[in-house]
Amino acid sequence: MNKPTWGIIATWRMAFDGIAAASQQLQCEVNAEAAVVQAIKMVEDYPFYKSVGFGGLPNEKGIVELDAAFMHGTTMAIGAVASVRDIANPILLAQRLSQERFNSFMVGEGAIEWAIANGFEQKNMLTERAKQHYAKKYRETISQGLSPYSGHDTVGIAAVDLQGDICVGTSTSGLFMKRPGRVGDSPVSGSGYYADSDIGAATATGLGEDLMKGCISYEIVRRMGEGMSPQQAAQSTVNDLEARLLKRYGRAGDLSVVCISKDGEFGAATNIENFSFSVATAAHEPAIYVCTCDNGETTYERASQEWLDAYQARITAPIV
Ligand code: ASP
Repeated sequence: MNKPTWGIIATWRMAFDGIAAASQQLQCEVNAEAAVVQAIKMVEDYPFYKSVGFGGLPNEKGIVELDAAFMHGTTMAIGAVASVRDIANPILLAQRLSQERFNSFMVGEGAIEWAIANGFEQKNMLTERAKQHYAKKYRETISQGLSPYSGHDTVGIAAVDLQGDICVGTSTSGLFMKRPGRVGDSPVSGSGYYADSDIGAATATGLGEDLMKGCISYEIVRRMGEGMSPQQAAQSTVNDLEARLLKRYGRAGDLSVVCISKDGEFGAATNIENFSFSVATAAHEPAIYVCTCDNGETTYERASQEWLDAYQARITAPIV
């Protein structure tokens, strides 16, 4: 029997405050489910993160449609929602649906009606700032006949707790300028996320259409289960999927992942520059890392103060 440990890892810098708060809780035996859900909720509530929850960027018609999921790696319970509008915290809805035997993955109108009937907070999720981003993007791409799709930023968080439970969750507004009704990997089990308390958990961000082609999160957990370290599992899965996509599909989108094992060891891999992640474990103080990807090998270093300042300035800068 391994010594009980705890740890939490998330895609992107935006999850850091939630990770730091969760690290305090996990040390005090708060469970992984609560840690993941609370940390994601913090990201959803912060208006300047333009890819998750309140302030998330809208679809091609200017409507914010949100996807989220939660998985408990001990019971295998999964709850997920897609294309929900004007519900304050999709992650709470996903968590609640994970308790349902049936109807645990709901989309669109049905999900919204159920959320309202069950007392979930309603909120206009489209901020003035998101409207400005939309207008700018529209001007610069669609109105000139160009593709509007670029960049990505889903929050995915996986945690291990001292009781040995591992949970994972995701939340996103999905691809900016997506078609109404488009759903990416984030609410899809095995693609945006997967957790198995006997092994570990993984979660992804990037081009959902391509992440789903490789069931990337399930594959990472599976490889960890076969004995690979989290870093090896993450890197080899990203590399193999990218190579297969290039060979057989002709192109590969952004693929970025983080994972954690039941021993609190973690890994991160990407095929882009500037992918950041946030992590805290019993052996590792809360930190933000920025990845570099060179020839199929991801390395990362602590985000510098300069990087952090530039990040904060960028997300709050006026939109011109
Ligand atoms: N993976 C998300 C999606 O395709 C996008 C993202 O990571 O931001 O919906």
